[in-house]
Amino acid sequence: MPPADYMTKHWGITQGCSPVGEGCRNCWAATWAKRHAANPTQPHWNADDPMKVVCREDLLDRPRRWKKAQMIGVSFLGDLFHEDVPQEFINRVFEVMAWTPHHRYLVLTKRAHRIVDCVTSFEQIHHPALGREMASVDLRNVWFGASAWDQTSFDAAADAMLPLVDLGLNTWISLEPLLGPINTWNGAAEHWTPSGEPVDCDVRSEIGDVFKWVVVGGESGKNARPMHPQWVRDIRDQCAAAGVPFYFKQGSSFGGNDKHDRTLDGQTHLQLPPSIGDVMNRK
Ligand code: SF4
Repeated sequence: MPPADYMTKHWGITQGCSPVGEGCRNCWAATWAKRHAANPTQPHWNADDPMKVVCREDLLDRPRRWKKAQMIGVSFLGDLFHEDVPQEFINRVFEVMAWTPHHRYLVLTKRAHRIVDCVTSFEQIHHPALGREMASVDLRNVWFGASAWDQTSFDAAADAMLPLVDLGLNTWISLEPLLGPINTWNGAAEHWTPSGEPVDCDVRSEIGDVFKWVVVGGESGKNARPMHPQWVRDIRDQCAAAGVPFYFKQGSSFGGNDKHDRTLDGQTHLQLPPSIGDVMNRK
């Protein structure tokens, strides 16, 4: 996902990646990697293999130099939880995050299944006697994000992220590029009559159970695929019903549409969770 205006800094602590599914077909990071790799002033990029995964030890200390609170996007030119990023390095990244609680960190991955293992490993190293709650306090300034693009990837991300909620950690989801409709209601079939009338019962929203923030965006670039406005409306309405902040980042540039048009039915939707909004409002 390209950086957005809800970040004040990007921390490219890892770079490079490999595709995991349809959401990666027009990988934005790969385009940037090729540009960087062709630039002789950017020695950390591999000219022969621009998307080779690299852990940037030289950047580990950077957030501690930022004295003012920042909203920091982490590894948006790659995936921090890529298989080629060693657990030991991820632990060091977590340490920096824990040592800089004045910042907020936005992590985003298409490998959500790896986050729980990584957080648990970090916790075992740093809090062997204190148990789970302590680790969750330490990483509370981190917003762990999963990226999904259709129903299947959304369901997988929700399953993978649920244990993080039990640990008291902040979670969000980026549906960008949105490539199909997504129903975020958990067990919705049980809550509707055969004639389609809603049943008044204690409906639990999967999106509200697992995610505290939802970002939706269309694909950009010359090969952009379409995003139907109704898919976005449905997710907006599901978020509203669940009380989850909803952020519409951009439309799809499919068919020559203006990707910078951030309106849906003539309105913008730029909601932020309070702890992210606090940092942004200080800018
Ligand atoms: S996970 Fe993200 S960075 Fe990696 S290939 Fe897919 S779109 Fe690109």
